[in-house]
Amino acid sequence: MAGVGQLRGETMRLILLGPPGVGKGTQAQFLMDRLGAIQLSTGDLLRAAVREGTELGKDAKRYMDAGELVPDDVILGLIGEKMTELKDQAVIFDGFPRTVAQAEGLDKLMGELGQEINNALELVVDDQVVIDRLSSRRSCPQCGAVFNLISAPPKVENVCDTCGHVGLIQRDDDKPDVIANRLRVYHEQTAPVADYYRGKGNLVQTDGLGTVDEVRGRVFEALSL
Ligand code: AMP
Repeated sequence: MAGVGQLRGETMRLILLGPPGVGKGTQAQFLMDRLGAIQLSTGDLLRAAVREGTELGKDAKRYMDAGELVPDDVILGLIGEKMTELKDQAVIFDGFPRTVAQAEGLDKLMGELGQEINNALELVVDDQVVIDRLSSRRSCPQCGAVFNLISAPPKVENVCDTCGHVGLIQRDDDKPDVIANRLRVYHEQTAPVADYYRGKGNLVQTDGLGTVDEVRGRVFEALSL
């Protein structure tokens, strides 16, 4: 049976925009289930490359540790490879595009592959919410699962719900001075990406404040799912 992602005879390709820590990854999980889609998170792809110790991972780590963006050509190369593999699969882009140059690169790639972006959904919250959420975020160094000590703690303290690994960690880039830099980079380089999609008439915005379920309800409503 076709998933919702294919119901209108087209494959759903959705971009999730919003500052770091707004909950893009969490909402992407719900959308994946609903749409039968794959989540494509450039942050996850980069962290996997860092864990594997590849050349790309070693290069990317310097930028990531400082809260700076990895160069556009590296990111577009990663996405190009994945999109060529995925073909007609519905896709949720999480954490990409982060610059207008990446958005333009994605359009070019989509044109070459005969694919299209349906919507860009922006989750909107204040900077202070981002700071609070990122400071209480913990993740599993083994499988990458993400928890929030306040809103979504693991069932057993310090143990990963997904893979059972003991010892959740705070990502280096979730430490206070790096968070401040990530926010600055977000406002300078990524906020214009929302304007880019607004200009094309496919930006949808929704309030990212509230519980995970409240935000999920708003996201589904905004996308008429
Ligand atoms: P994230 O988990 O999406 O917040 O990404 C963590 C870090 O990976 C970012 O702070 C950047 O250093 C890097 N990164 C992830 N996605 C991108 C992207 N699309 N463009 C440039 N850098 C990225």
